[in-house]
Amino acid sequence: MTEITETADFTVIGAGIVGLATAVELQRRHPGARVLVAGAGGPGGRCCNILPGPGSVRSP
Ligand SMILES: Cc1cc2nc3c(=O)[nH]c(=O)nc-3n(C[C@H](O)[C@H](O)[C@H](O)COP(=O)(O)OP(=O)(O)OC[C@H]3O[C@@H](n4cnc5c(N)ncnc54)[C@H](O)[C@@H]3O)c2cc1C
Repeated sequence: MTEITETADFTVIGAGIVGLATAVELQRRHPGARVLVAGAGGPGGRCCNILPGPGSVRSP
């Protein structure tokens, strides 16, 4: 588990398409705000499910 030491104005949990779109929209509506996206993948891991990972049955 990664300890988050940064502070943020908004925290979005989950780095899937919905989470990332939400983060982009928050940034658009609140320029300069610090938006933190916390994904379950962790550093070096899969950060989101937008792109299929190895062995995925999803269409590329
Ligand atoms: C097997 C399969 C195949 C699919 N194939 C296609 C396809 O070919 N084309 C297509 O358009 N759609 C496909 N889909 C659908 C597509 O994946 C979903 O509609 C889309 O990813 C949903 O986006 P989401 O952001 O809601 O969820 P996700 O993409 O699932 O994102 C949620 C994110 O939140 C994270 N998360 C969950 N809990 C926590 C937590 N407690 N803390 C931190 N992070 C957390 C997860 O790790 C994940 O990264 C497929 C789905 C499945 C299951």
